Amino acid sequence: MIKSANLGFPRIGAKRELKKALEAYWKGESDRETLQQTAADLRARHWRLQDAAGIDIIPSNDFSLYDQVLDMTAALGAAPARFASETDNELDLYFAMARGAAGAPAMEMTKWFNTNYHYIVPEFHADQVFKANSKKAVGEYLEARALGVETRPVLIGPVTYLALGKAKDKAFDPFSLLPRLLPAYAAILADLKNAGAKAVQIDEPVLSLDLSATERAAFENAYDVLQGSGIDITVATYFEGLRDNLSLAASLPVDGLHVDLNCAPEQLNAVLDSVGEEKTLSLGVVDGRNIWRTDLAAALCVIEQAKARRAPETLVIAPSCSLLHAPVDLDYETKLDPALKSWMAFAKQKLEEVSILTKAANNGRNSVAQAFADSDAAVEARNTSARIHNSAVAERAAGVTPGDLTRVNSFDARNQVQRARFNLPPFPTTTIGSFPQTAEVRKARAAHKRGALDYAGYQAFLKEETRSAIDRQLRLGLDVLVHGEFERNDMVEYFGEKLEGFAFTRNGWVQSYGSRCVKPPVIFGDVSRPAPMTVEWSAYAQSLTDKPVKAMLTGPVTILQWSFVRDDQPRATTCRQIALAIRDEAADLEKAGLAMIQIDEPAFREGLPLRERDRPDYLQWAVDCFRLSASAVKDETQIHTHMCYSEFNDIMPSIAALDADVISIETSRSDMELLDAFADFDYPNEIGPGVWDIHSPRIPPAEEMESLLRKAADVIPPDQIWVNPDCGLKTRGWEETQSALGHMVEAARRLRETVR
Ligand code: GLN
Ligand code: ZN
Repeated sequence: MIKSANLGFPRIGAKRELKKALEAYWKGESDRETLQQTAADLRARHWRLQDAAGIDIIPSNDFSLYDQVLDMTAALGAAPARFASETDNELDLYFAMARGAAGAPAMEMTKWFNTNYHYIVPEFHADQVFKANSKKAVGEYLEARALGVETRPVLIGPVTYLALGKAKDKAFDPFSLLPRLLPAYAAILADLKNAGAKAVQIDEPVLSLDLSATERAAFENAYDVLQGSGIDITVATYFEGLRDNLSLAASLPVDGLHVDLNCAPEQLNAVLDSVGEEKTLSLGVVDGRNIWRTDLAAALCVIEQAKARRAPETLVIAPSCSLLHAPVDLDYETKLDPALKSWMAFAKQKLEEVSILTKAANNGRNSVAQAFADSDAAVEARNTSARIHNSAVAERAAGVTPGDLTRVNSFDARNQVQRARFNLPPFPTTTIGSFPQTAEVRKARAAHKRGALDYAGYQAFLKEETRSAIDRQLRLGLDVLVHGEFERNDMVEYFGEKLEGFAFTRNGWVQSYGSRCVKPPVIFGDVSRPAPMTVEWSAYAQSLTDKPVKAMLTGPVTILQWSFVRDDQPRATTCRQIALAIRDEAADLEKAGLAMIQIDEPAFREGLPLRERDRPDYLQWAVDCFRLSASAVKDETQIHTHMCYSEFNDIMPSIAALDADVISIETSRSDMELLDAFADFDYPNEIGPGVWDIHSPRIPPAEEMESLLRKAADVIPPDQIWVNPDCGLKTRGWEETQSALGHMVEAARRLRETVR
């Protein structure tokens, strides 16, 4: 018989119970026992839910109080030494690593492959030791068993663990630690076996990346050692196809291999050719990362192809990856449009799909005829729905010409016109867009949402905030002003709510890091802009001053990247539709008298595909979409863009190809190191390297900003340099904002005096 499996379940809870319990604990409002009890309740609920859905192979140790990579660091006894003196209990030590403690800064955090989930980066020292601590893995396995649920514990694999970590004290190859690491893994496996576990899932998502020779050798070496553990090992891969790593993966001396057939359906035949029947093959056919309902007939067709080539007992059916990246339960979406809802599936529904597919594969489609009929009907309705398909949008997007992607004249010509128009001083000062979203701003928005504050009252409140922000900027002496974004809850949601083709869930939360969750909008249909979205606010702000006000738009790539995206057309096609909507908005802003328009693209870099080979194609369409959004305006209109959290080195030609007149970037945390990429590349346009790390409550003195600017002026021609913070100021308070911006204006003034 073919079995069904799950690779991981979202731990945050359908009502974000874990978030609330964690934050209460951190604030000291609850104790350790209360937190642990909430965690245990969530685990129990999720195991029972998976059991009830008919899943044969249910994961344990996929739960985490913060992050699964940090759990692995704890399980390997690899907590950095600086935390040891901070606390005497394991739980607080764990949170200290994630969040920092008085005497020990937090460990670094970064994005988990191409998802919006962030993991805590392991730190390695040359004299690193590892010591197995299997308490959590074994404890959760036994906890599930006590509830009558046999589980398959999940671990992050040794090669992925080393590949994700960073050498700290001096430069050395983390893979030199493999011989020391493997005994710790072997010890954890032995403990699990002794506790009664029959099988483990070992996640090795790095098998979806371009691997170095060292990494390949590490794979062979590692699994050679671990195969002796006497426990059944399934290696899980996801987020991309295996491609040139297929033969390596297929030849590992393990008992099973999981492959992602959602991201990479094309690998099916090669996988069937390579993975022998001595191994179980786990088919990831249900999209674990998006919110769309599975086309059951299409998925069954994939399974049938595998079944034709292999004995059923060597096959497993599963979601493509851990369901960590999907919201928990669609049943809570009571306010969602019924048609849309009928096209969607969250984690719980996805497991039901896995179970149905397994039944169909074992007993024929007729054994679950109703489920297939419903699926077929949903597929048909979605394919033909007038809500999704807007021929005017599709035609316009198809008719985009190269001319639409280009400004009238090249940067040099535009620059002359703009300099004459704005007559800004050298080192012009500005900000990135948002000003503090104070308690009052959030209260007014909530009251308006509730109906307690009417439209007129809310508008009046926002106008007053905007007016006062303009006043403060004038008093500070900033050269280019912004309206402050008080009307925006979030830089993507705000636009999504005003565009056709977007929908919003009430509980579609996905963990981003620790207790933080995001609720991405759903792009379900062709995107269009029924009316201007931002013009009123920018025009109002501009009416208050003679200084230029920079209008604020979110770029097409970022809107795409931070949403759940439709799966019935290429991402590039959806992005182009968004770009056209932003293009129209930019044109309307220009008409309304706005002379500068910033199109933010903080997510530009994170859309980069995992494999080198796929990157040029992405960069091409992403650049084109940005240019499409920015090129409808005249030469005299200055286009800005902003990016943060970015390493630019490997994508400089594409950053330059955006052809924004000015780019602002995050650089202060790295002491202007990030600027080197722009210097080495000879970046042609204007650039504002951030001089204030707005993620920290610290207010840098003018001298510090001045010295950062001098560093910048050493590598970038001074007349190309703008002066601004690293990012928007919405998370900061007014007091710190005013004093830091005061220092920033002062730093610019000092540079004007001395640098020519
Ligand atoms: N304009 C946005 C702001 O200032 C940019 C935010 C971002 O880069 N993430 O808030
Ligand atoms: Zn930013």
